Amino acid sequence: MNEEKRKSEAESRLLHYLSQHHMRCTPERMMILGKVVGFRSSFTSSSLLRSLTDDGFHISQATVYNSLRLLETAGIVRKRLVEGGIDTYEYSSGVDNHISLVCSRCGRSKVIKDVEIVKALNLRRFPSFVMNGFDLYIRGLCSKCRSGGRVKK
Ligand SMILES: [Zn+2]
Repeated sequence: MNEEKRKSEAESRLLHYLSQHHMRCTPERMMILGKVVGFRSSFTSSSLLRSLTDDGFHISQATVYNSLRLLETAGIVRKRLVEGGIDTYEYSSGVDNHISLVCSRCGRSKVIKDVEIVKALNLRRFPSFVMNGFDLYIRGLCSKCRSGGRVKK
């Protein structure tokens, strides 16, 4: 999906959510949304703030944080599992499934595709619950941490 399409899709999801919850569509919220959609990988609230400040926007950390909370509740970003104590976020297109390999030592994570796991989980039926997606985190050690922290050149 190209960036423009991702952006307009995310915008309509946010507008829908805001109107459903009788909330205002503020320029700050739309600006933050645009940034979030543009990130190609996961980000933290401070890297988001930095990137907004770099673009010349004056916005407080609290506004960024509150907007992220809103986007998270609206299902547009998701908070990733972290081991290092810093929340990282990523853009979420909504209905899709995510399988990530997470290093329990350095916290690095990598999204993988696994047709077999997706197939198995999609076939699962749960009593009085309809699944519409999943996030699966598989913990372990990445190659860097496994080699004792030496950085391979
Ligand atoms: Zn690691």
